[in-house]
Amino acid sequence: MENTALLSENTSENIYHCIKCGLCLAHCPVYKEVLLEEASPRGKVQLSKFVTEGTLPLSEEIKGVLFDTCLLCGSCVANCPSGVHGANLFSGLRWRATQRYGTNWKKKAFFQILASKWKMSKMAWFGAWARRTFGGAWIEGKIKAGALSVDGIPALNKKPFSQTIEEVIKPKGETKARVLYFHGCATEYLYGDIGNAVVDVLPRMGVEVKTPREQVCCGLPIFMSGDRDTSLKSIRLALEIFSGKDVDAVIVDCATCGAALKNEYPHLLKELHDLGMDVTAGEVKAAEELAAKVKDVTVFIDEHKDWLPTPEDTKEKIRVTYHDPCHLVKGQKVNAQPRNILRALPNVEFVEMKGADDCCGGGGSFQVEHPETSLKITRRKIDNIYATKAQVVTTCCPGCNLTIGDHLDKEKGMQVMHPLQLLQKALAGR
Ligand code: SF4
Ligand code: SF4
Repeated sequence: MENTALLSENTSENIYHCIKCGLCLAHCPVYKEVLLEEASPRGKVQLSKFVTEGTLPLSEEIKGVLFDTCLLCGSCVANCPSGVHGANLFSGLRWRATQRYGTNWKKKAFFQILASKWKMSKMAWFGAWARRTFGGAWIEGKIKAGALSVDGIPALNKKPFSQTIEEVIKPKGETKARVLYFHGCATEYLYGDIGNAVVDVLPRMGVEVKTPREQVCCGLPIFMSGDRDTSLKSIRLALEIFSGKDVDAVIVDCATCGAALKNEYPHLLKELHDLGMDVTAGEVKAAEELAAKVKDVTVFIDEHKDWLPTPEDTKEKIRVTYHDPCHLVKGQKVNAQPRNILRALPNVEFVEMKGADDCCGGGGSFQVEHPETSLKITRRKIDNIYATKAQVVTTCCPGCNLTIGDHLDKEKGMQVMHPLQLLQKALAGR
């Protein structure tokens, strides 16, 4: 059958494991809002089955379902008793649909910018200038920001983060471990303070941190939007810089970059290789080697907590809650480690929120393209955050940070931070 080669065997066999039990429905943030079977993971797995078997054509309508009703959050994958990897199926078919029907020119141009360090820094400079000169409302009138308010987005870093630090930062005393640091675009251009916390805390533990200057976007926003060809440039560069190096770990401070490096690269390259595309067995191996070394920074710190200096005890405590990013809790099964760090801080009173691992509704471009559904999902998250009466919401994903921060009522004075920023604060002077 001609269509069976749409996806690799590994990916397409998922369609035969679905027993239509519907247990995924209650975990799908989109289905919970729209209550339509075709928007549910089960519905989309069945659609994928018909398309890959060739009984349904991969029409533009199906492309619409794949893009409009899925955040690729992985909740269905994490909660499927049959081990169906819906997200691999849906992202694979997004790729095939994009090959057939194309991507709009704005997205295409944006992906080219993301894949180039030079273009990305120029764009960031231009964005900062436009915002300073004309204001967020003007920008919103020119570009489609969807559920986001441009004024709610923090100011861009004055300088790209990597230009503000030494490429190699050594600990003052004995070097107990050496790591490479993949900081991703968000830290580079928006959340430099998170990067500063990483390169401050790790050396205090005796860890040497190298932040390779030439790194670019991990490519996930590009390949999840179906443009695997453009993303290969970013993936190959990341493999060249980070794979096969003599270090103890490759550290990431972004759940999405971590999921890309740990899960998506090996899957995507293997699929392209198996389909006879221009990807070598050596590249698949390099992706697997890199995946084995990648660690979220909270996981690395939790594993080596004995190396942490003792934070100063303090009477004043900040009430803090934690939001689990989908790409960390579902994609990488990391939930205890960030909490362990927070609970151990003398300056923190930790409080769990209801539905901590529910999606925040951002989903990268989903919040821009589908503001109505996105806003409903985000609303639940924000209400659950308010119910904790926390002063600070922590999370390990800049995407969630952006979405949550944008929707929090600024009057309430709540902040969104990475757990490492609180750890850095607690260790100041240690
Ligand atoms: S994808 Fe998994 S959880 Fe959902 S209906 Fe199929 S078997 Fe059940
Ligand atoms: S990946 Fe997330 S949004 Fe997409 S079907 Fe699965 S649970 Fe729903």
